[in-house]
Amino acid sequence: MKKRIVAVFLLCLLLMSACVDSNATVSMKEVQFVMSTVVSLDIRDHASEELMNKMMDRLEEIDVLMSLQKKGSDIDRVNEAKGEITEVNPSTYHVIEKAIEYSELTDRAFDPSIGLLVNLWGIGTETARLPSPEEIETARMTSGLENIELLGNNQLRLHGDTQVDIGAIAKGFAADEMVRIAKEAGVKSAIFNLGGNVYVLGSKGTSPFRVGIQNPFSDRDDYLGIIDVKDTSVVTSGNYERFFFDDAGKRYHHILDPKTGYPAENGLAGVTVVCSNSTMADALSTAIYVMGLEKGLAFIEATEEAEALFVTNTRDIHVSSGLRSFFTLVDDTFRIVE
Ligand code: AMP
Ligand code: MG
Repeated sequence: MKKRIVAVFLLCLLLMSACVDSNATVSMKEVQFVMSTVVSLDIRDHASEELMNKMMDRLEEIDVLMSLQKKGSDIDRVNEAKGEITEVNPSTYHVIEKAIEYSELTDRAFDPSIGLLVNLWGIGTETARLPSPEEIETARMTSGLENIELLGNNQLRLHGDTQVDIGAIAKGFAADEMVRIAKEAGVKSAIFNLGGNVYVLGSKGTSPFRVGIQNPFSDRDDYLGIIDVKDTSVVTSGNYERFFFDDAGKRYHHILDPKTGYPAENGLAGVTVVCSNSTMADALSTAIYVMGLEKGLAFIEATEEAEALFVTNTRDIHVSSGLRSFFTLVDDTFRIVE
């Protein structure tokens, strides 16, 4: 008798959950141009039009708050405040705080106080150009974390001519926000790709997700290898993402070395960071690209939460120890260096 009651009870529970959770198996994919990049949200369960809209709206909102170029963004208002105190959205304040934290952690290879330098080069905008050495030095001298004064209560003030840019971390924060919103809606499995800034939520059935690592020397979507991962972010920074050519045909890319003021040139084509926190992965991929192979690899081996893969200009691949068993090379024009 007892057994029957339990069985009926379980059946009711099953029926109830089937009714309540009617969109448990609904999957949806949406691709849009937002945050100046192609964003793809691929949700494999619990998807709905409402959830998709909510997530895309959040991306638009983050862009409007954190863009360096958009007039009236939080970052623009802070940079234009001429030393006055500015109040920003709590999300912007949080990302600036994180940016400072990662800057300190990476010995300023990642530096959110180089806004003037980024604007001077204008890489990725229509006004990209090679500035004179004097201009570069003048802009470089305005940077310095000590010039960003956080006052609490979402208020901050810049000193001197310092300008803030959080473009190297905002997409990571946005990816973390996508994960938060999706989890709140009950999503267990999804892939978010914010212009190469990837987050895989959960797994693909019983298997991990397979994330392709872009071949930095190909114009097309060619992968040099694959990483099998679950519940983590995979973020790449590379010299092939945004660049321009000067009149002499020399290529300049968008990741600047804060210590020289010029695009970092240290033999790396790209760095991919794997870390469950996408804000951290984004900051570290930029920072490690600037550090270069030797320093970057030593840094990542000493950082428990993150792993990394380095691709050099000579097609050598270096993989940090914790990532080796998850990486498969698919293009044999590259070689793994042990
Ligand atoms: P990412 O694509 O994440 O590596 O970020 C590159 C973007 O961050 C550039 O387009 C600049 O806006 C900015 N940036 C460039 N160099 C640095 C740096 N060393 N530290 C922080 N932000 C940077
Ligand atoms: Mg970055």
